[in-house]
Amino acid sequence: MTGSGSTAAPLELRQVRKSFDDVAAIDGVDLKLDPGEILALVGPSGCGKSTLLRSVAGLVPLDSGEIFLEGELVEDGRVRRPPEARSTGLVFQDHALFPHLTVEDNVAFGIRNSGDGHRTSRVDKMLRLVGLAGHRNRFPHELSGGERQRVALARALAPDPAIMLFDEPFASLDYNLRTQLRLDVVSALSETGTAAVFVTHDQREALSLGARIAVMQRGKVIQLGTPEAVFHRPVTDFVGAFMGTASFLRVGVDDQGQSFTALGPVELGPLDPAKANALVRPDDVEFVPDGNGSAEIVHSDYTGTHWLVSARLGSGEDVKFLTSHLDNLKVGERGNLAMVEGHCQVVTERSVGVT
Ligand code: ATP
Repeated sequence: MTGSGSTAAPLELRQVRKSFDDVAAIDGVDLKLDPGEILALVGPSGCGKSTLLRSVAGLVPLDSGEIFLEGELVEDGRVRRPPEARSTGLVFQDHALFPHLTVEDNVAFGIRNSGDGHRTSRVDKMLRLVGLAGHRNRFPHELSGGERQRVALARALAPDPAIMLFDEPFASLDYNLRTQLRLDVVSALSETGTAAVFVTHDQREALSLGARIAVMQRGKVIQLGTPEAVFHRPVTDFVGAFMGTASFLRVGVDDQGQSFTALGPVELGPLDPAKANALVRPDDVEFVPDGNGSAEIVHSDYTGTHWLVSARLGSGEDVKFLTSHLDNLKVGERGNLAMVEGHCQVVTERSVGVT
């Protein structure tokens, strides 16, 4: 059930389209969220994430398509409910609190027309939920960036919206604070049973946030799936590369019809080898030093916990792998690369201009 108790899909989009001049910012998107579900919407800059979110909120009129909130049509070619008549809660990167109102009054703003008793108890509940009950009389300028985002969350949640829409809400915060705030926001959403869409271009954030992830490219949702599916079974090399560090290898087919790469056999499935790549993640491969080995170290990056090392195979292709921060592999060192037991190469469709 959603925060408002409905069992209908909190949000459904059908063939939603929006162009700006000749740019198709949203190009035929279908999407349906389950009650209480958190969806992370990711993709490179300019792929249409914010436009999609803003169109759900009613801030950007669609060219065509339908938007439903909790089963109710809020926009199609004929109907177009204004933002204030849509049950959405918005949280943006820049907090957008009212500077002249206290924390308490900011949170009460969206429910100012409800009765005093309900309003007071709802504000109390929201402030407790975001851990700011002790700050109710402060003004926004007396809060840290993280606290201001908590107030923005409480304010948006107070009217019990069908869906919460977050546009890069943690982008201005430092790494530790954004990690903590992300956990707190997810816990507040699960406590209220509220579904949410998070726009982010931080892949790690998307992997830890979403029950599902939608990956957008040029206005289209290219893949919609669980974090595991999107990370480990990307449908195209674009998705694979976007979701995290990856190496891609050419796929060949031998006389017996077995497909392979420089790291061994692969399952090609229905794909044409000329239009396929095999993806390996850095944790999928291991390097065994050997002065006569077929691979040569060409680069290494220190990450703190590990070295991220690139080795060039005899085929001329580079493969990235991880070694312990205690290892000290030097550029020019030789060895052999092999798949880690239990890991496999994943064949993806090759997309233009990505790898
Ligand atoms: P970012 O991650 O950089 O915020 P995004 O994925 O959110 O990008 P959008 O802001 O939705 O992308 O933009 C999608 C496309 O639509 C871009 O090409 C952008 O230039 C264009 N666009 C967005 N809003 C407008 C507008 N009001 N007028 C004209 N073009 C626009």
